[in-house]
Amino acid sequence: MPETILYCPFCQKQTIKAFHRPAYTGVGRSRGSGQSSTYSTHHEDEYIILNGCSDCGKPINEVREKMGFKKKGS
Ligand SMILES: [Zn+2]
Repeated sequence: MPETILYCPFCQKQTIKAFHRPAYTGVGRSRGSGQSSTYSTHHEDEYIILNGCSDCGKPINEVREKMGFKKKGS
């Protein structure tokens, strides 16, 4: 995965390291008895935040939350 630098949502400095995973659609194949069928799985693109802000000292979990990368359903 390509590593990228994001802006801190609190102090707007480029201090947040993240992996960017682009959206992709994968094709899977399920094996049954004799028959096989394909299905597709769609994944939204996402950023995986790797550190908090070294400038304003915000911890990684607050940066994630502020950027809206909460897990769905929470
Ligand atoms: Zn900051």
